[in-house]
Amino acid sequence: MQLQSIIHFFEKIAPPSLQEGYDNAGLIVGNPEMEIKKALICLDSIPEVVEEAILIGANLIVAHHPIVFSGLKKFNGKTHVERAVMLAIKNDIAIYAIHTNLDNVLHNGVNQKIAEKLGLINCSILEPKGGQLQKLVVFCPDSHAEELRQALFNAGAGRIGNYDACSFNSHGDGSFRANTGAKPFVGEIGKKHWEPEIRIEIVFPKHLAGQVIKAMKAAHPYEEVAYDIYQLENTWQDAGSGLIGELPEALTTAEFLKLLKTNMQVPLVRHTPGAGEQIRRVALCGGSGSFLLNKAIASGADVFVSSDFKYHQFFENEGKIMIADIGHYEGEYFTVELLGNLLTENFRTFAVVFSGIDTNPIKYYC
Ligand SMILES: [Zn+2]
Repeated sequence: MQLQSIIHFFEKIAPPSLQEGYDNAGLIVGNPEMEIKKALICLDSIPEVVEEAILIGANLIVAHHPIVFSGLKKFNGKTHVERAVMLAIKNDIAIYAIHTNLDNVLHNGVNQKIAEKLGLINCSILEPKGGQLQKLVVFCPDSHAEELRQALFNAGAGRIGNYDACSFNSHGDGSFRANTGAKPFVGEIGKKHWEPEIRIEIVFPKHLAGQVIKAMKAAHPYEEVAYDIYQLENTWQDAGSGLIGELPEALTTAEFLKLLKTNMQVPLVRHTPGAGEQIRRVALCGGSGSFLLNKAIASGADVFVSSDFKYHQFFENEGKIMIADIGHYEGEYFTVELLGNLLTENFRTFAVVFSGIDTNPIKYYC
């Protein structure tokens, strides 16, 4: 299996355009045309993990965190980043990172995996992302409207929340005059023509723009397709930061903390007192999520599960929500399972191995 097929698969789940500005997700080391025989899945592609890949004969490392965030100027092995990159290049091992783009998707994302471990239901994005949606308006003769709509749906347009095949259609009359050299589908050269047309309106996430326009042009009968693309102000419900969901039944704060510790397999939970007696609504964010505290409070959640809270940030809940800090590594640990399962379920031509190395730089002395 060529590496580019694997990248294409991951990028359909977590489009690179959804990564945050500081991130460096994507193919960090390697050639997309490499033939992959074995993949090693981890959170951090540190030198020890690259050595593990060499040992087991894996030529692809899929990591959640990019090993390189900013430019490297020297390659002499002084830092763990340089050592990991040098070792990978020397041994023909590709490193691919799927980071904040995977944090920012609802389906098959980092946060959905945590929600699944906690048994949450009715999950949605805590802070949906703006600037991601566009609307296509295209004018089509009645006879070809259904075929065109279907082609647009197949290209990924027309999805709103749990609905697909969404479009709005209005009838009207289009006018045009084909000039010399044109090959009009209807009408005659040099004569103004009126044609009953349907104005089809359909939304799509902007990362699909290329394939949506390609599908539109392929399915439309006109030589020149009249269409408009608008940028929408709406947020996109399928992408953004954090997640909010519900426990099937309310738990006491003690019961919830026990569930959290057990199901997330964490050695300890740093937490504030609960705002009430019970926990039902749960906001969460894998990795460093303190920036979402106010969103979690506004969402009416009883608890906000995340990590990397500093001492003073524990006061910022103002007694309105319980903060539960489970640790960065621990919060994202099941991302490895998520990525490994996605690969094994969708590819049968190469082996997938979970890294056996605990890459958590933080140890607990209890
Ligand atoms: Zn992280």
